[in-house]
Amino acid sequence: MKSEWDVVIIGGGLAGYVAANYLAKSGMSILLIEKDKKVGGRARTDAIGQELFNLGPHALYTKGNAVPILQELGIELNGKSPKLSGLLTDNMLEYTAPFTPVGVLTTRFLNWKERIEWLMVLWKIKSMKIENLSDQTFQQWTQKMTRSKNVQNLLLILGRLATYCHAPEKVSASVIVSHLRTVMNGVLYIDRGWQTIIDQLHNKAVIFGIQIQSGMKINKIYKIENTFKVTLSTEKELTCKYVLSTISPQELLKIVGNNISQTQLDFLKQIIPVKGAALDVALTKLPKPNRLFAMEIGEPFYYSVHSTAAILSENENNIVLHVFKYLHPDDNIVGKEIQNELEQFLEKIQPCWQKHKISSRFMPTITVNQRLPQIGDEQNLQRSKLGVPGLYLAGDWVSSHSILSEGAISSAKQAAEEIIEKEQR
Ligand SMILES: Cc1cc2nc3c(=O)[nH]c(=O)nc-3n(C[C@H](O)[C@H](O)[C@H](O)COP(=O)(O)OP(=O)(O)OC[C@H]3O[C@@H](n4cnc5c(N)ncnc54)[C@H](O)[C@@H]3O)c2cc1C
Repeated sequence: MKSEWDVVIIGGGLAGYVAANYLAKSGMSILLIEKDKKVGGRARTDAIGQELFNLGPHALYTKGNAVPILQELGIELNGKSPKLSGLLTDNMLEYTAPFTPVGVLTTRFLNWKERIEWLMVLWKIKSMKIENLSDQTFQQWTQKMTRSKNVQNLLLILGRLATYCHAPEKVSASVIVSHLRTVMNGVLYIDRGWQTIIDQLHNKAVIFGIQIQSGMKINKIYKIENTFKVTLSTEKELTCKYVLSTISPQELLKIVGNNISQTQLDFLKQIIPVKGAALDVALTKLPKPNRLFAMEIGEPFYYSVHSTAAILSENENNIVLHVFKYLHPDDNIVGKEIQNELEQFLEKIQPCWQKHKISSRFMPTITVNQRLPQIGDEQNLQRSKLGVPGLYLAGDWVSSHSILSEGAISSAKQAAEEIIEKEQR
């Protein structure tokens, strides 16, 4: 590996690869470094036997910012939209989920007055001015929208489903409602998993001449005059003009040391991640084949069969499904207990599922989004405040208005374009 580069990208997840592909056409020399042996970050897909598991449930938003960016980069996105019909469960009770017209008409979860209120709230989500919500939490917003506890519960469920955030009293209503609106326009489960997106981005980057080095960590970056010195876990030292970091705020703090302003340091330190627990399961068959999607009402549990919409197994009869618990930032996480809860939840929806199990894996605490979006984040996130010229940030926590892959991909494009513009100037 040579020692001098124009741009060093830290992280080989969606953000790192999208940025690499945009920067590729600039003619600059680019090195992407990923600490894990396998590239992809949280968009990784693992093959376990004949089945392909994303890291927990992953859905791409068909009408969001990310799809047009990926298409602009020539990435093929194959897959299908899952059906929205499903169940709401509560202790031993079950209701039709009112997420489709038929569901709204037939569910016993809502009375007629609540059905009309629910439809009005859905219409408001689609049509309201998001800017007006910037000073409210999602919980405050749901309480303003309706006095019906059932409709409030539905909003909280939909909020969790769309954003993975399970702290309505903390999160910013504007980010949650805006993302909810994107999700309501449709989602896609990707054939053979999100790794196919990473693999296409990787192959294109390689063809463009970008050097990709996995299994190597960046330990430190510091700036001397106009040049960055980058220290790798192998002790090798590189120099570059620009650094584009796609890593978490906590990891960034470790590698920049005292090179950033106190304000930025304080902001990065107090960022809380959005976490969840995932149970990924492959079965030979579903004991109750019609049950493809369910959410628990009183508890933050999710269940969805992904292989009915996407190809996720070499054997077309096999099933890949995800069960998930949305974690609150204050939750005390005891892995065994959560695993038991998720298995029990699955048992309620698919009795005797263990009899048909091919494989499963459990991840007790996984970061879904690096930043729980809170009121006031917008101002703090302005990249210019970082105070280190030449250091650019991307990732799912960096963009003030979008989260998840939407945030990762759009912030990566923006950071790459800013570097190109700076270089051309
Ligand atoms: C369970 C789960 C469900 C999700 N569901 C959805 C969904 O339905 N829809 C959606 O849009 N998004 C979803 N997401 C979120 C989505 O996967 C992420 O937002 C996206 O993949 C983040 O990409 P990134 O590049 O910003 O970060 P990452 O993928 O985390 O990439 C950062 C990379 O940097 C590497 N790295 C860290 N430190 C260093 C270092 N010092 N040196 C070198 N490399 C380093 C890491 O190993 C990592 O590969 C989900 C995530 C999870 C975990």
